[in-house]
Amino acid sequence: MNPEYVSPENGNEKFLQKLDTMGIDVHACFQCGRCSSGCPVAEYFDLQVMEVVRLASYGMEDILLASKTIWLCAACETCATRCPNEIEIAGLMDVLRSLALKKGVVPAEPRVPLFHRSFLDSVRHWGRTYEIGMIAGYKIRSGDLLSDMKLGMDMFIKGKLKLLPQAIKAKDEVRQIFSGKGKEYER
Ligand code: SF4
Ligand code: SF4
Repeated sequence: MNPEYVSPENGNEKFLQKLDTMGIDVHACFQCGRCSSGCPVAEYFDLQVMEVVRLASYGMEDILLASKTIWLCAACETCATRCPNEIEIAGLMDVLRSLALKKGVVPAEPRVPLFHRSFLDSVRHWGRTYEIGMIAGYKIRSGDLLSDMKLGMDMFIKGKLKLLPQAIKAKDEVRQIFSGKGKEYER
């Protein structure tokens, strides 16, 4: 990446407008670093949290959508809680993931969206997670059939994984939410 490309003059205005309409004020960042120093998964990021915010304030959408960080963020909200300017950083990560999927950007950490998909399928179907089904869905999607077998067996033996799914009573309401017809989506 040519460093000269990274400047406010080259920023994507439409991207900045989107953040603005969502109330994510990236321009309020004064690079204090409190977000980065509190992030529990920072050591795995290719862009640190404060860098994500700065690049977002420059409108550097392409760099952000191609980063590993947006997929590795655990959405724990620690960064937003620590930010003295109350910037919605976890919300910014959500927007970036969503944009990456919408624009067909190949995820820099491809297994993460596959896991998200398997998790959501489980919730859509049962109204809650059915771990064994979710893991099976993820394994099939990722083709990674053999890793973590011992861990899975240990959890099963200790009763942490239920053999059969346990659906909630209101699973139809959950399905309505997924179909966009739930009350929360009537806006
Ligand atoms: S904590 Fe807030 S102000 Fe400080 S670097 Fe992070 S985003 Fe910027
Ligand atoms: S929400 Fe994401 S970026 Fe923020 S502290 Fe948690 S893992 Fe780190």
